Amino acid sequence: MISLEDVASAMPVAELLLPRLQGLYEALPETICTCDQPGVCCHSLPEMTALEAVSMIRLMQGMGDAELTATARRFAELFLTDPARRAECPFLGDGPCTVYVHRPFACRAYGLWSQDLGAVRTQESREANRALGQLWKRHGVELSPELAEREPDYCAKVEVISGRPLSDSALMSLLQRVYALGAPLGSLQTRFELEYHSDVSFLLTSIGLGAKKAMLFKLAVIKETMDRGTETHLRRALDQISAASFRIGKP
Ligand code: SF4
Repeated sequence: MISLEDVASAMPVAELLLPRLQGLYEALPETICTCDQPGVCCHSLPEMTALEAVSMIRLMQGMGDAELTATARRFAELFLTDPARRAECPFLGDGPCTVYVHRPFACRAYGLWSQDLGAVRTQESREANRALGQLWKRHGVELSPELAEREPDYCAKVEVISGRPLSDSALMSLLQRVYALGAPLGSLQTRFELEYHSDVSFLLTSIGLGAKKAMLFKLAVIKETMDRGTETHLRRALDQISAASFRIGKP
């Protein structure tokens, strides 16, 4: 599994790559959202590359202890309660995105893919949610059908205001370049994809609690939420997460 020391070792390499990542982001056109429910697309944490995940942990290093603890706990809460509860992206905070300038490619490209492709992906996500529901059922947990169907329809309200709209193939090629940029991170990149399914909330919870404890708490939290609707295990897990577990370069 990936430790904080692994992330710390990757940080100097990542810092050299981040300006190039911003350069790739800038190949996307500037957009405006005309949705009457702005932020609804932030209904879940986006998948991101290992480089983007390291960039998020780097941003967290600039936070004071109280903010860092609160942020890490929001990520852990999302990881531990998903899919028993709907939880928004932890970067949403109480208002707009708190990492907007650094938001990952997935957020930037959302709404730019064609409606046909977006509809296919929405369908795939809903099917994946249903499969996940079956998986939890085998562990004795019955999720509500509404949770399995929670993927919203693909957004049709993003408008390009400057620059040229990109075709699906151009967006895909840009996404491949974003992934390829992380190659110097070596095994961290493949481990993040294969072991953490590109989910930074899983990575942060594993760093905060230890990987085995994170999984055991998750099982207990989901069971308790669905069986009794209480939060004893969740509160116990979150109490164990503190800024000290995420500080790089400090004892
Ligand atoms: S990173 Fe920001 S833009 Fe992306 S889903 Fe989270 S809150 Fe929304």
